[in-house]
Amino acid sequence: MTGGLEGYDAVAEANAQKSVLAIHWSRICQRLKAEVGEVEYRTWLRQITVGPVEEDEITLYLPTRFLRDWVRGQYGDRLGTLWNAEVPAIRRVELQVARADAAPVAPEGDEPPVPLPTVAHEKAVSAPAAPVADEPRQAEVRTDLAAPLDPRFTFDTFVVGKPNEFAYACARRVAERPSSPGFNPLFLYGGVGLGKTHLMHAIGAELLREGRVSVAYMSAEKFMYRFIAAIRSQSTMEFKEQLRSVDVLMIDDLQFLIGKDNTQEEFFHTFNALVDAGRQIVVSADKSPSDLSGLEDRLRTRLGCGMVADIHATTFELRISILEAKATASGVVVPAKVLEFLAHKITSNVRELEGALNRLIAHANLFGRPVTLEATQDVLHDILKAHDRRVTIEEIQRKVAEHWNIRLTDMSSARRARAVARPRQVAMYLAKQLTSRSLPEIGRKFGNRDHTTVMHAVSRVTELMEQDPAFAEDVELLRRMLES
Ligand code: ADP
Ligand code: MG
Repeated sequence: MTGGLEGYDAVAEANAQKSVLAIHWSRICQRLKAEVGEVEYRTWLRQITVGPVEEDEITLYLPTRFLRDWVRGQYGDRLGTLWNAEVPAIRRVELQVARADAAPVAPEGDEPPVPLPTVAHEKAVSAPAAPVADEPRQAEVRTDLAAPLDPRFTFDTFVVGKPNEFAYACARRVAERPSSPGFNPLFLYGGVGLGKTHLMHAIGAELLREGRVSVAYMSAEKFMYRFIAAIRSQSTMEFKEQLRSVDVLMIDDLQFLIGKDNTQEEFFHTFNALVDAGRQIVVSADKSPSDLSGLEDRLRTRLGCGMVADIHATTFELRISILEAKATASGVVVPAKVLEFLAHKITSNVRELEGALNRLIAHANLFGRPVTLEATQDVLHDILKAHDRRVTIEEIQRKVAEHWNIRLTDMSSARRARAVARPRQVAMYLAKQLTSRSLPEIGRKFGNRDHTTVMHAVSRVTELMEQDPAFAEDVELLRRMLES
């Protein structure tokens, strides 16, 4: 048995390391429990198991990816600090998902619902990068044509505003009276995260509630994988028949079919067969039919034949309405200032906006602390940072003027009435705080004022903020909105 002794040493050492780590870990757990409370500790942290230490890094395991991501997001830094305080040689914490056989599986209640069941569902079928290389399971092709609908995506939960009211009205109309002339196909298009999928699911939910029609919803990607699987299992006839037997066919994210010529061809035939048989088609894409270059002309032409409805980028008002609706539904009190702040900061799409709010709400629930601007700044640190940009004096002037409802030109006018002079001072103050411009430079941007005027504004605003909490909060809100 060569190397037996060495082997023994290694095992003994590993065991010793394990028991030492266990002692440290139990101390860290005590502290964590005291910090976050028993419930949070049990929900999230107790599921951690301690892995090996390599160089300055310790690996901790969690049973699921969700838990891993959550713990990483919420406690990652704290775990690092605590480990480092216990064992100074440990400088980094690596969180990993344990193999199924290496750690106990989390109780089911800990798993939140997968955000979009369709995603999880599709994965089972379409996970392989090269689908042709993977033997498809025939049963799925036959029995399970459509992806499930997300029960949260209904007309009731869809917040209507200027940018989406037309698309919403069209969707409602199709749900009420499918296959009406002029509304078939319904083509919904718009940027990422603006509600296309939500509206399609809402149509489906509404139709199914009535229970009169059969509905199939799937992404274009899934359509392709199903089609390929059908070819491989020589069941294309069946696939076609199934598709052509539904009353309403909805295909999401059609742009996926660009460059997939065979699938496009198949879709085109299905499309024609259904429309000719008086069935309803609903399609979504990220661009209008005419802009979807890469799709066959005849398909584009047919897609544009019914109703084409554009979902525009959100406005500030719509973002506020959406946030208000979601906050109310969650039961967590989110102050208007926080909602305004989010609506100003996260303008790209509703999904991100929603994600930010959900995180705030989860945090509030978890720690039982009220949502404040400060907490928001903290909890959403990473998201907000990604949305950061350099702020200009012009922007500051515009935001401040908007906030106090004065004319932008008054930022550089000679008027000295308090109603304009005060906002102007705030704008100067913010320009000093948020930009690297010098006092004379700032003065010049405010109607060629002297740098002493700017200096005076800065100290006056500082003073007022100390005296008047409401004013301080206004300025603080503006600062956060503008901050880079
Ligand atoms: P898309 O399919 O256009 O990329 P989704 O429909 O998936 O976008 O929307 C992203 C997220 O934003 C979903 O959770 C959806 O519920 C939400 N959302 C989008 N628009 C609205 C709206 N007008 N009201 C309420 N929620 C919305
Ligand atoms: Mg979508």
